[in-house]
Amino acid sequence: MTPHGTTAGPGTAQGSGLLPDLTQHEIQALRTRFNLADAHTHQRQSAAQRGIVERLPELWYEAENGLQATYEQRFTEAFFRLHRQPTALAKNKTLLSYAASISTMVAGMYLKKQRMDVTLIEPCFDNLYDVLRNMDVPLYPIDEAVLHDPDSLYERLRRQVRTDALFLVDPNNPTGFSLLKHGRKGFEEVVRFCKDHDKLLLIDFCFAAFTLFDPEVARFDVYELLENSGVRYLAIEDTGKTWPVQDAKCALITASDDIRKEVYNLHTSVLLNVSPFVLNMLTQYVEDSRRDELGSVRQVLDENRDVARKALDGSILRYEEPAVKVSVAWFRIDHPELRASELQRLLAIEGVYVLPGRYFFWSQPGKGEAYVRLALAREPRLFAEAMVRTREVLDRHA
Ligand SMILES: *Cc1c(COP(=O)(O)O)cnc(C)c1O
Repeated sequence: MTPHGTTAGPGTAQGSGLLPDLTQHEIQALRTRFNLADAHTHQRQSAAQRGIVERLPELWYEAENGLQATYEQRFTEAFFRLHRQPTALAKNKTLLSYAASISTMVAGMYLKKQRMDVTLIEPCFDNLYDVLRNMDVPLYPIDEAVLHDPDSLYERLRRQVRTDALFLVDPNNPTGFSLLKHGRKGFEEVVRFCKDHDKLLLIDFCFAAFTLFDPEVARFDVYELLENSGVRYLAIEDTGKTWPVQDAKCALITASDDIRKEVYNLHTSVLLNVSPFVLNMLTQYVEDSRRDELGSVRQVLDENRDVARKALDGSILRYEEPAVKVSVAWFRIDHPELRASELQRLLAIEGVYVLPGRYFFWSQPGKGEAYVRLALAREPRLFAEAMVRTREVLDRHA
C-alpha cells in the first residue's frame, strides 16, 4: 500500500491552475456576492437570538467576573444536554478548543507521535485530509459506501482497513451520510470492528447537531456505546457549523480513558483555554436551541434546501438525497462533458461561488468532478437570488 497524502493533493495537478484547497476557494468566495462556498453560518439572527445579542455586554462582564472553570462546565453541560449525550456529560473529561481544526490537530499530533497510519473516509471535507497530511500522517482512503449497509460493514471494514486507525466523519460533509440512518447498528458494527481488531476509532461529529430533533435519524448516547465497548477512541464535536455567531466557536474532543492522559498532554501543549466570554455566549445559543428544538437553525436550512431543489429541478444538477439534512447540499452534474471545476468557474463569473467536488475526493480528485456542493446556512433572500442566477447559467450550458 502506498499512502496518499505524501504527494500532490486534489488541487495540485501540474499546470492545471487549480487552487490547492477548498479554503482558498472559500477565501475567494468571501469576496463574491453570492458566496455558497464555506459551510460557516452566514444567516441573520432569529428573534430569540437577537435577544442574546442584546445581552452581550452583560455576558461579557459576567464572564470577566467569574471563574473560567464555571463557563467551561456550563457550556459543556448545555452542549451535551442538547445533544442528549448523558455519558459524555457524566464522564466529564471533554477538552475544549477554539476550533474543530485545533482538535483535529491534537488528534493528528497523537497519531504522529504513535506513528499510526490512518484510513480516512472519502469523500470528506478536505481540511481533515490536509491537516493530517501536513502532519505527515500516512493516509489511506475508504469509500463512504462501505458504511452504507450495517449488515455488511463489519466484513467490508475487516477486508479494507489495514491501518492502525479509522477516521470517520458522521454525518459526513459533504454527503450528509450518517451511520444513524439504520438506527444504532451502524455505529455498533464500526465500534465492534475497531475493538476486535485493535483500531483507534476517530469520529468527527461536527455536523451532529443536524441529527437532533429529527425522527428519522435520532442520535442515541454514542458515548455510552464507545465507553462500554472498551474501544480506543477520539471523538470531536463542534458548535461552528450550527449557530450564526460570526465564527466565535468552540470544539470539543473526548478520548477513551486509555489514551486520555497522552491526549491531555498534547492538548495543553496547544492551548490553555477558550475565551470565557465566547463560552458564556455560546451557552446561551445552545440553551436557546434546546428550547426551540433547533427550530431557528433548521428553519433557514430547510427553506434554502427547498428553494435550491425547486430552482434546480430539471436542470443538469441532480440533488443527492442525504441521510441527514445537513447544512450543505450535494449535487451531481448530469452532463456528458461539463466538469465541476468548469461549472464552478462559470458560476463564479456570474457572482455565484460553489465548491467543486474534486477536493472532497482527496485520493481520487477526478471522481469529484461530477459533483458540486452548495452551502445552505445563508440569508434566504440572498440564497434565492443566487439560485435564480445559478439556474440561468445552467440553462445556458445545458
Ligand atoms: C468545518 C468543519 C471542520 C473544521 O471546523 P473549523 O471551525 O473550520 O476548524 C471539521 N469537520 C467538519 C465536518 C467540518 O464541517
